[in-house]
Amino acid sequence: MNVATLDILRCPYCGGRLDLVTSLFLRRDGDEIQDGILGCQCCIFAVVDGIPVMHLDGSSTTARAHIEAGRPDLARRAMFNLGDEARAVRFDKVASSDAATYRDVVNALGLAFEGGYFLYRFSDPTYIVADAVVRSVAGTVLKHGGRAIDLCGGSGHLTRSLLDLSRAAPVLADLYFSKIWLARRFTAPGCEGVCSDGNAPFPFARGAFRYAMCTDAFMYIWTKRQFVAEMARLIDQDGDEGALVIGHTHNERTWSPSHGQPLTQEGYRNLFETIEPRIFGEAGLFADVVKGGPLDLSRRDSAGVIDADPALTIVASRNPVVFTPHRLDGAGTARGEYRLNPLYAAEPAGDRTALRLQFPNEDYEQEYGACRQYLPDEVLVSSAALARLADGRLAPELADLARRRVVLDLPRRYY
Ligand SMILES: [Zn+2]
Repeated sequence: MNVATLDILRCPYCGGRLDLVTSLFLRRDGDEIQDGILGCQCCIFAVVDGIPVMHLDGSSTTARAHIEAGRPDLARRAMFNLGDEARAVRFDKVASSDAATYRDVVNALGLAFEGGYFLYRFSDPTYIVADAVVRSVAGTVLKHGGRAIDLCGGSGHLTRSLLDLSRAAPVLADLYFSKIWLARRFTAPGCEGVCSDGNAPFPFARGAFRYAMCTDAFMYIWTKRQFVAEMARLIDQDGDEGALVIGHTHNERTWSPSHGQPLTQEGYRNLFETIEPRIFGEAGLFADVVKGGPLDLSRRDSAGVIDADPALTIVASRNPVVFTPHRLDGAGTARGEYRLNPLYAAEPAGDRTALRLQFPNEDYEQEYGACRQYLPDEVLVSSAALARLADGRLAPELADLARRRVVLDLPRRYY
């Protein structure tokens, strides 16, 4: 973590500022704190591998004791829950290799994030809507500066969308250390990671951000009222230009897989005491994205449309420009590297290559099958143009396939 992040970090329990405890173990490289101890008036917290651990759950106190004892290697193992010695050694070996991919590290951790669906995350329907909403709303409120935070952001797939919008490095907060670590290394390099509990007050100063979001996680939060009040506190700045986004939260009135504990639209509205939210059914936003934009946030979905949609997007802002149609940019320069979407099997067909859409299993198809609306079943492409993807270059004849997400701009060394 950068020392400047201490300016916005606060203790979740006493609300006090945190200082680096220089009398205890510290590994520091210029302005970057690698491993060390932070203290407020009530507590001390560890920084492990560049990530401040701002809660006292699970292995965090064990990790803190290892840092105090000058053993950052053991602290990291504790945070990754690598109790078994053989597994820990195997993980350390993979993690220290420059050639390791996101997939290698996930495998070495013995984790199955989202049932392994992370591989397909960058083309799934939930992601493409959330990415468009993030770019539209964050792009509007951060135009003249300000910082963004992705709450319960997991391994940073959407934090990545904030990297070129947030003036200071966007912050990714999540309960799971391993996910934040993966985001900083692969998915959203350059973000600041903070390990914190979404069911507790957020460990940040009032007004530290201009944009705060939580996507695909809010229905699993128990303390929803506190969470929204905390989001509003984070963007409470002079000028009221900020925005809050709760993306892809489930709907109590319409069942969906991994339902969680969602609320009705009235229930969600009731959480916002200081700023009026606008609630969108995801289907309308999805249709906008599939047709290439604009993403029309000026729409006012009827109560019936919202009730019938299994997934909702909630946007709250006093900036009227947020609630207008937003142009969606097509494929430009890769932030990472262009790769063939892993949902496609490739077979040679003369001097061309036949790409065929294949789902990993029936469950995937059932949950994410709406991707058929933009992913063609079969397509023939120039083999030479495909080969050039390996050099990170997108041949002009593949631009349309990038727009349809047959070709993806993936983080470097993703799989
Ligand atoms: Zn404290």
